Amino acid sequence: MSHDAPVKSASSKLVIRNIGLLLSGDLEHPILEADTVVAIDGVIHAVGQERDLDTAGATTTIDAKGTALAPGLIDSHVHPVCGDWTPRQNQLGWIDSCLHGGVTTMVSAGEVHTPGRPKDIVGLKAMAIFAQRAFHAFRPGGVKVYAGAPVLEQGMVEDDFRELAAAGVKFLGEVGLGSVKDGTTGRRMVTWARKYGIQSTIHTGGPSIPGSSLIDKDMVLETDADVIGHVNGGHTALPDDQIVALCERSPRALEIVHNGNERAGLLALRTARELKQLHRVILGTDSPAGSGVQPLGILRMVSMLSSLGDVPAEVAICMATGNTAKMRSLNCGLIAAGREASFVFLDTAQQSAGRDLLDSIQKGDLPGVGMVITDGAVSIQRSRNTPPATRVPEVVRA
Ligand SMILES: [Zn+2]
Repeated sequence: MSHDAPVKSASSKLVIRNIGLLLSGDLEHPILEADTVVAIDGVIHAVGQERDLDTAGATTTIDAKGTALAPGLIDSHVHPVCGDWTPRQNQLGWIDSCLHGGVTTMVSAGEVHTPGRPKDIVGLKAMAIFAQRAFHAFRPGGVKVYAGAPVLEQGMVEDDFRELAAAGVKFLGEVGLGSVKDGTTGRRMVTWARKYGIQSTIHTGGPSIPGSSLIDKDMVLETDADVIGHVNGGHTALPDDQIVALCERSPRALEIVHNGNERAGLLALRTARELKQLHRVILGTDSPAGSGVQPLGILRMVSMLSSLGDVPAEVAICMATGNTAKMRSLNCGLIAAGREASFVFLDTAQQSAGRDLLDSIQKGDLPGVGMVITDGAVSIQRSRNTPPATRVPEVVRA
């Protein structure tokens, strides 16, 4: 234990038993032969068959009732502002609504909707540090929001990135949403960011709102950000040959978003599959957006890519969990010892034509969410947003 770990008076032990299908989030082994998960103090301790595990002394026991357990979903691309409010559609409680869509972790691609967003360098640094602090301390419904993602502006120097990293900033906002709109400057700043452990994402495609501009494949390739943000446009996509070129010529993450061009998203998926690089595909919503907030956006992406892109449902789930965690160096997204104990329980939606959960997703239906756990604690039970799950887990001892 490190010297600054929080001192706890008593440890909590969560036992989830009677799991019908364990979706690991790991593309190498998307389905595990296991019916039980044990977590201690919010961290996964063991995964396996109940008879082989030490389940004694649980402080919370959940009977999964034969439903599927998956890692809490990750939204790789959101634009939070402050608290659980967005000015984009003047909506309250949007993050909590996404929790009801199974999302337990969000990554900010920039707090760019902030009214009066400062564009001078001291101002943008102050805003990023404020957002990082505020969302670190405030978790709507339990959702972890990695916010504080500064947008690159002309005039930033290496020392700015050192200072931001030292203050706790871990992600850049989308390159291209600020005044840096050329690959040479973008690459220089992204390289500084990387040197100090700050990850980068680039806006890809046409302008998203008045004032933003086109970022084509040449700028994306030259800038070489860690994540090719909304490779399917946000919403206006690049021409097909440019999307294929990005898949072929860059090794970086290919982010497909809900608020993008669906046909282009399927093209990126198919190209990644042909290249045998599905591990690069990660999912986001890019919400709040002009078309609103989609609380079920990540689940809708999983169903869309699985049903129209001919990807097994358990593989599509990996794109919303383990792939993103690996590409973004997050300690969630996988059901494995040592990972954050954040989970979503899924089951076939009532009256789905699918013969089981995975088949229903492959047929394009949404799964029903029966419970969400964040850091080892029950955040919600039956979702108010998904179609009703046929079976739901039950807390048998809390
Ligand atoms: Zn964008």
